[in-house]
Amino acid sequence: MAACGCSDVFQYETDKVIRIQSMNYGTVKWFLHMLVFSYVSFALVKDKRYQEKEPVISSVHTKVKGLAEVKEQADSRIFDTVDYTFPMQGNSFFVMTNFLKTEDQKQKVCAEYPTRATICSSDENCAKGWMSPQSKGIQTGKCVKYNHSLKTCEIKAWCPIEAQEAAPRPALLSRAENFTVFIKNNIHFPGHNYTTRNIFPGLNTTCTFHKTKNPLCPVFRLGDIFQETGDNFSEVAIQGGIMGIEISWDCNLDSWFHHCRPQYSFRRLDNKSSESLYPGYNFRYAKYYKTDNNETRTLLKVFGIRFDILVFGTGGKFNIIQLVVYIGSTLSYFGLATFFIDFLINTYSNGWCRTQVYPLCKCCKPCNVNEYYYDRKCETIVEPKPTLKYVSFVDEAHIWMVDKQLLGKHLQDAKGKKVSRPLTEFKYLSSLAHSVHTLSPPPGQPEEIELLSEVTATSTGSPDWCQCGNCLPSRLGKDRRCLEELCCRKGPGPCITTSELFRKLVLDRDTLRFLLLYQEPLLALDAGDTNRQLRHCAYRSYAIWRFGSWDLANFAILPSCCRWRIRREFPKSNSEYSGFQSPY
Ligand code: GDP
Ligand code: ZN
Ligand code: ZN
Repeated sequence: MAACGCSDVFQYETDKVIRIQSMNYGTVKWFLHMLVFSYVSFALVKDKRYQEKEPVISSVHTKVKGLAEVKEQADSRIFDTVDYTFPMQGNSFFVMTNFLKTEDQKQKVCAEYPTRATICSSDENCAKGWMSPQSKGIQTGKCVKYNHSLKTCEIKAWCPIEAQEAAPRPALLSRAENFTVFIKNNIHFPGHNYTTRNIFPGLNTTCTFHKTKNPLCPVFRLGDIFQETGDNFSEVAIQGGIMGIEISWDCNLDSWFHHCRPQYSFRRLDNKSSESLYPGYNFRYAKYYKTDNNETRTLLKVFGIRFDILVFGTGGKFNIIQLVVYIGSTLSYFGLATFFIDFLINTYSNGWCRTQVYPLCKCCKPCNVNEYYYDRKCETIVEPKPTLKYVSFVDEAHIWMVDKQLLGKHLQDAKGKKVSRPLTEFKYLSSLAHSVHTLSPPPGQPEEIELLSEVTATSTGSPDWCQCGNCLPSRLGKDRRCLEELCCRKGPGPCITTSELFRKLVLDRDTLRFLLLYQEPLLALDAGDTNRQLRHCAYRSYAIWRFGSWDLANFAILPSCCRWRIRREFPKSNSEYSGFQSPY
């Protein structure tokens, strides 16, 4: 049976974090955490986010009451509910406030109402059978007298034709202001199995709604509704309009805090301004009867107010899943502190701080602290491109990163980006120190004198880019040559190969042997290619010494003087060295 990869399954990965012991950031963190916690708790209680909410289902029934007296010529007429209310569909009711009456209409022919299109002078102006969408009947083709001065086309229609008049002012039923409407509203929350209505036990049915004094009374005076929205009833009554009555149910169905009462509010739903095109609300309506066996009708153009009742709201009840979902959704807010503090550290450190703040104010203490945090927090990795190289000069504190093709230019003069030298890895040195200490010959020994004299002996005839006098021309091919045209110094001065540490760390056979054996304890060092192993180890030792970390050392280019000093110490029999190869 194949081995079970259980160990791959039973493992857990977690992030390693950096804890910053800082009074300031600690305070910021707790402040933000408290802020988030307060907000989350506030929203939980205020919006009852622990509840499962359900929209309301409702039915509405209305009853309008009131009487109005309307003057008609000499006489007056009483209008009761049946006269001024009309059956409507949906949650609406209509109250007539004004009207234009055309009485005794019968099916016959008569002169059309005079308009630009209907005025005629002879029969030729009228076309038989023609009708426009605006006309009230079908033309007979005759031009007849409308009154003593005008002639219009004759039509077959309900005659006499309705006159195109403006709505009477003031409105005929402006008394409708005092009408009352009783609204019965039953609601249901099926998910919570809860039913209620807006008429509660003990409610006085002779009451009238008042926003503050009687907010639960379901009887509304029409004038009061218009007052609430800032409209003038008698103005609206002339042309008609549409008014919304909103019933909002925000129900808390939890037994420990049960509350389910409606809230009434009003909103004008049509265009308020009377100057607008086609203002108001009107429709035509007829009452039919028979006179002498002839069908006759009274046509009414009715203006009035349509009341739309809009019921909305939610019912909420505690639900553990909702609570868990809410808590889960708010957890991410607690990352605000991390985000904010990281933002501060990233922004007020390194580059930004030096370029923006430091030139202005010399007191950049917080930036220095942030820079320290940033260095500890952030590890930058440069893309290991084949063109990437690092260069270090002994007379400069930083390292140069050169990331481009040299194209025949000496590496010594190539432009690059400054990189700070990584902190010395003392771990590596501490193991080395023992060997260096015990194995190096005491200063002033003949070996050292010999070494220094050797260096000076070769210092004549160094290339023009060399500043230390110890570099040699590269022996690589023409296109790769420039890579090795690098000195240990930027300005003139003594060569790094003359330093004692160079001799101890890079050239000392015992140190290198120690390093090789440290890595591979059973390495056979007396084999044929010992020199090659020692040489390569010397390159690495130099790179680690001068560049501080493996990341940089892998792409570090040795100065020509060091390279040739190492090669002289550990030569290759055919003297054909392959030179630096990019590891990627
Ligand atoms: P070889 O021994 O004939 O191959 O020739 P070299 O003495 O030039 O050694 C080549 C090896 O040393 C290769 O692995 C190179 O990557 C490495 N090497 C040579 N020069 C440099 C250098 O300047 N920097 C680094 N980091 N490695 C180098
Ligand atoms: Zn040099
Ligand atoms: Zn040098």
